[in-house]
Amino acid sequence: MTSRIEQWVRPEIRALSAYHVPDPGRLIKLDAMENPYTLPEDLVEAWLDAMRGVDMNRYPDPGARIIKERLRRVMNVPAGQEILLGNGSDEIIQILALAVGGAERKILAPEPGFVMYRMIASFVGMQYVGVPVNPDDFSLDAQAMLAAIEAHQPALVFLAYPNNPTGNLWDRQALEAIIEAAPGLVVVDEAYAPFADDSFLPDLGRWDNLLVMRTVSKMGLAGLRLGYLCGPADWLVEFDKLRLPYNINILTQASAAFALDHHEVFDAQAGLIREARDELDRALRGFDGLTVYPSAANFILFRTPAGRASAVFESLKRDGVLIKNLSAAGGVLADCLRVTVGTPAENAAFLAVLGRALARG
Ligand SMILES: *Cc1c(COP(=O)(O)O)cnc(C)c1O
Repeated sequence: MTSRIEQWVRPEIRALSAYHVPDPGRLIKLDAMENPYTLPEDLVEAWLDAMRGVDMNRYPDPGARIIKERLRRVMNVPAGQEILLGNGSDEIIQILALAVGGAERKILAPEPGFVMYRMIASFVGMQYVGVPVNPDDFSLDAQAMLAAIEAHQPALVFLAYPNNPTGNLWDRQALEAIIEAAPGLVVVDEAYAPFADDSFLPDLGRWDNLLVMRTVSKMGLAGLRLGYLCGPADWLVEFDKLRLPYNINILTQASAAFALDHHEVFDAQAGLIREARDELDRALRGFDGLTVYPSAANFILFRTPAGRASAVFESLKRDGVLIKNLSAAGGVLADCLRVTVGTPAENAAFLAVLGRALARG
């Protein structure tokens, strides 16, 4: 069997590892940028009522018109810009890559960045170009980005705004220069929009190669798997041809339509998370030996004393808290850990066991 696998499975796929998600068991889960809050009790009942009316024997609306219309209204998608929906924004990244792919075609993004850009480039047989950020503060190296765009002529540039895993927003002027210099598409990935004070959504239409991608995952609906891409109709018509029929299932359509009707609940939760983030940031800065990076998202990246990150991570886990260890990859993220902002109680529990982990020396 092995030889047939070697013969037929593409080498770049054999070289990959499947996207690994640790089993949280009973740990406090602060590893995946989930919103810690669920629907309030009275809304759960109303949501269940809405679910009773769903005809699961039928295919969903292929165009998912109701959610598109609500997203347009709730998220203020500029008039004249279209919306494409994906089974998570991960699927949208894949659709984009399939649309422009080819062995000589390239995806370019700042590094460190969101891992799916690189992985999906491999899936579809494209080349990936990671452009290192400034190592001191993880800010964009605008000159390096422009030089790499000139040298590589990428089909797709992804700019996570704010960036994952570093949490920062990029310099807006640098982004505008990149959009102007890019020969192909520039996708501003605003997965963390609910926690940030800037967005390129209102800028749609200023450039014919700008797209804005968002998701409902980080705002509190990660389980639904719903991402959306906003941009000029001419582009989206092409991408829509690659979307598998009915990619947004009927329960997701009904639940998202319900949730968007009650978006003020999610806005309020995002407000709580922002406050908790700022409090967590202050608390982390109180620990000796930690470097804490400013975040416009719902997580915080911090650096432990040299060589300690994995021990601190394991110690937290033994004490019941799961965060993300980024230090294994080394490079500019050596000694770095990332914690998702939870409820005030979860954050307090994390800080308590962090104190213990750091004291263990
Ligand atoms: C989490 C995340 C996504 C993925 O969102 P889904 O809609 O859950 O697939 C996309 N981009 C960035 C930068 C993220 O951090």
